Amino acid sequence: MQMLDGKLVSQAVKDDLKEKVATRAAAGKKLPHLAAILVGNNGASETYVASKVKSCAETGFGSTLIRLDSDVPEEELLMKIKELNDDFNIDGILVQLPLPKHISEQKVIETIAASKDVDGFHPESVGRMVQGLPAFFPATPYGILLLLEHYKVETKGKHAVVIGRSNIVGRPISILLNRNDYPGNCTVTVCHSHTPNLKEICLQGDIIVAALGRPEFLKADMVKEGAVVIDVGITRVADPSKKSGFAIKGDVDFNQVAPKCSFITPVPGGVGPMTIAALMMNTFKSCLAKDPD
Ligand code: NAD
Repeated sequence: MQMLDGKLVSQAVKDDLKEKVATRAAAGKKLPHLAAILVGNNGASETYVASKVKSCAETGFGSTLIRLDSDVPEEELLMKIKELNDDFNIDGILVQLPLPKHISEQKVIETIAASKDVDGFHPESVGRMVQGLPAFFPATPYGILLLLEHYKVETKGKHAVVIGRSNIVGRPISILLNRNDYPGNCTVTVCHSHTPNLKEICLQGDIIVAALGRPEFLKADMVKEGAVVIDVGITRVADPSKKSGFAIKGDVDFNQVAPKCSFITPVPGGVGPMTIAALMMNTFKSCLAKDPD
């Protein structure tokens, strides 16, 4: 069994970007700049945004963090996004989800200029991805592709089973694994909460992507020998033995499942760090589109 080490690969991606940014700085080129908007003070969102801002600093990207109160009117948030859309210096805009209930996530996603949509959630980005056109891929699925690519995991002709069909993970990774490219060319089955015979389907998977948000859901008796298992899940589970009071659990029962796998991602340290690396890649691409090398 080989571990797909997201910490290591994300660092490699960021080191490569750092070098490219340094070369651009020396040539007097525009440097990538990410703007992140955080609404309210959800603990997990705070952690994600802090990691993204830290990664920018480490890589030589500029970053702007905009904090808004949880009761900010929707119109004010949309105005802020429009300001960032019009700001040449900003290459990527991300609004950390989830948002408070009074704000429409869909409106927010559609207000971000498609050219700065580094999270890859805008309908234009999704449409381009589906049609196989150059596009910002959603960060988590893109991070999974980068990880598979780094370890040269064979995907062509494989049966990929994706558990979950959300717009941010399950559905886009099913499209990307199905595309005519590497990583891709899989035959994909997408499962969801109404799939009756999930265990039988998972047992057919050469590659399983678990993205449902149920801690340790995928058990060893659902996985065939030699499968590649990608665990996207991140759930905080109460754990009094930890200083923080919680432990992070994936969607895979790692200790049981890992011995059966050819490759597996750990949680933490698998897909999570790759999501940030992919976001940085998208931001860099956006900057390049404005001011090519
Ligand atoms: P979501 O709640 O939007 O979607 C969950 C999906 O799982 C749904 O499509 C649902 O139909 C399906 N599902 C739920 N229960 C099921 C069951 N019993 N059997 C089969 N399918 C079932 O979640 P999401 O936003 O896609 O996130 C999924 C998980 O991935 C969460 O734990 C989330 O925290 C994590 N996540 C991690 C990253 C990362 O960077 N590693 C990024 C995004 C999300």
